[in-house]
Amino acid sequence: MEPSSVKAPEATTASAPAASTTLVEPAAEPAAILKTAEHRLLTERGRITKDEALEIQQLPDDQLGHLADLAHRVRLDYCGESVEVESIISGKTGGCPEDCNFCSQSSVFGSEVAPTGFIPPEQLLAAAEATAETGATEFCIVYAVRGPDRRLMDHVLECTKLVHENVKGLEVACSLGILTRDQAYELKDAGVHRYNHNLEAAKSYFPEVCSTHTWEDRMETCELVRETGMELCSGGIIGLGESREQRIEFAFQLAALEPHEVPMNFLNPRPGTPMEDRDLVSPTEAIRTIALFRLIMPSTVIRYAGGREVTLGDLQAMGMKSGVNALITGNYLTTLGDNVARDLGMLEDLKMPIKAVSKVI
Ligand code: SF4
Repeated sequence: MEPSSVKAPEATTASAPAASTTLVEPAAEPAAILKTAEHRLLTERGRITKDEALEIQQLPDDQLGHLADLAHRVRLDYCGESVEVESIISGKTGGCPEDCNFCSQSSVFGSEVAPTGFIPPEQLLAAAEATAETGATEFCIVYAVRGPDRRLMDHVLECTKLVHENVKGLEVACSLGILTRDQAYELKDAGVHRYNHNLEAAKSYFPEVCSTHTWEDRMETCELVRETGMELCSGGIIGLGESREQRIEFAFQLAALEPHEVPMNFLNPRPGTPMEDRDLVSPTEAIRTIALFRLIMPSTVIRYAGGREVTLGDLQAMGMKSGVNALITGNYLTTLGDNVARDLGMLEDLKMPIKAVSKVI
């Protein structure tokens, strides 16, 4: 369904009731709630409060089109019309000792993912070169680990050097889990441009997600990344079992971190994980959540990530017009995403120019 097909009724105001004998319904109230947010964000260039976000979250479904439209206008105003398209490469898959309940790369559960060693540097370089040929500016390498040991740090530093020396104009991003301060600065000094470390969920919900490390452990690494000056990419997964209020809590916790980029994943339950039986988030709830994240973080890059296909189905295009301004395309780390051609076709249909395209590995 195209975004425009989810239409909200025209708002009526208390001063202009319909010519009938029925009492005026509080139809102006939802419109007023969105008007306040619009004024705050687009006229004052300020921020909405948590209470306002909670109010917006409770708007009826017939206001979803208006909410999506506002989020899209906020995105255009703060971020422009281009969309950053990229893919991620796995530097090491599976065998992670942590017990994040959604993750098929954990060795704690009966995982479907076979563990691998580190990607050979020459293979990674070939992938980086192929990526650069597409005009991409960012190359992101992800490792399924709690955090790097010396061996992994040496591997990443070698790969980063190799890419910098051989591939012009390509920034290296990576995701290696929990860092020490020395490791964070080592990566920064090696020229790593952006570091991904997701908070995953609201602080109040994280104990339901993982027992082998804490939300504070994750936050500490995110703060270290900020401290070094590397760009921070930090988001999470919607649909882990958190309440709607915890989604708002999460968005404000991310906003306080001021990340450069927030990847939004939707849970795609993986067989063998403790969350394999979780229900998918409904498409309308997903759109509502994307729009709210945009209103809460107007100038942040908000990236469509894993689970969008199964969650949104035909409403993926509407998601692009609800505040998203970046996407990961092709293969995710452990599940198949939409194919690249379909994603690029969607952006073409939406007349959204592409900022950079990374080759799918
Ligand atoms: S989310 Fe990361 S830390 Fe958690 S189990 Fe998966 S790979 Fe390990």
